[in-house]
Amino acid sequence: MKVGRLKGRVALVTGSARGIGKAVVLKMIEEGASVVATDILDCELSQVLAEFITAGGDVLVHAADVSKAAEVSRLVDHAIQRFGAIDILVNNAGIVRPAPLEAVSEEDWDKVLSINMKGAFYCTRSTAPFMKEQRYGKIVNIGSRASLGKLDRTAYSASKAGLIGMTRTWALELSAYNINVNYVGPGPIETELFSTANPAESKQTKAIIEGIPLKRMGKPEEVAHLVSFLSSDEASFITGQSIFICGGLTVGLAHF
Ligand code: NAP
Repeated sequence: MKVGRLKGRVALVTGSARGIGKAVVLKMIEEGASVVATDILDCELSQVLAEFITAGGDVLVHAADVSKAAEVSRLVDHAIQRFGAIDILVNNAGIVRPAPLEAVSEEDWDKVLSINMKGAFYCTRSTAPFMKEQRYGKIVNIGSRASLGKLDRTAYSASKAGLIGMTRTWALELSAYNINVNYVGPGPIETELFSTANPAESKQTKAIIEGIPLKRMGKPEEVAHLVSFLSSDEASFITGQSIFICGGLTVGLAHF
């Protein structure tokens, strides 16, 4: 029988009702971890819970808005109460509000930064003390290839670039406690977040795919494989790194 590389570990995954987060939860279950699946809406979580249980998971679902410090604190307490530890934290919850520079509203700026960046900060700040105490932890921040620059992504690219800075800082601060912190920057991945911002048949979407050296979109499962590896002891000497999973988009510009 296959023994999963995350057997006996407890993972907390934010934004896990769909898309990349859901794929990460399913991968963690396959690898033997117990999972705390959290998302902003209770109803969406209840719908996926059945799927997680069918996959064989020991899963706790808990609705929380990652941009609210008190809700994050309750989430982490609940996770500790239920499992006694959090070994892995995946800061995945994120939103995008595409707009050209002059059309970026203050409201959109605040919303994107508060979920994508402050949310990861709150979750890590609440979880780190438990990881430090057990002298073990793996933190994976889900950023974006857009952190390197993308049209109409002022707030989004700022939030995802900010996550790189926090990843490197936390890697330094937490290394003495045997805690690894890394950043995964996906390129275009087939999820609702992408298709809402980039309608399937639009010229813009076709141009994006044409610009990807591998000439296709990525799948949530492909991101989940990388996150699972970085959350495992197989990646024990990797910390503070940013890894882009984007079909070669980051090097694609070298064609020109
Ligand atoms: P998705 O399908 O929209 O899933 C994101 C999940 O996060 C949703 O279930 C969403 O809930 C939840 N969420 C939103 N705000 C939240 C909050 N305040 N607190 C807790 N949960 C919240 O997106 P995805 O494509 O899987 O993206 C996951 C991550 O990958 C994001 O950080 C995104 O920036 C990053 N990423 C995605 C792509 C891509 O092409 N898909 C590319 C680069 C980076 P609701 O649906 O109810 O809002």
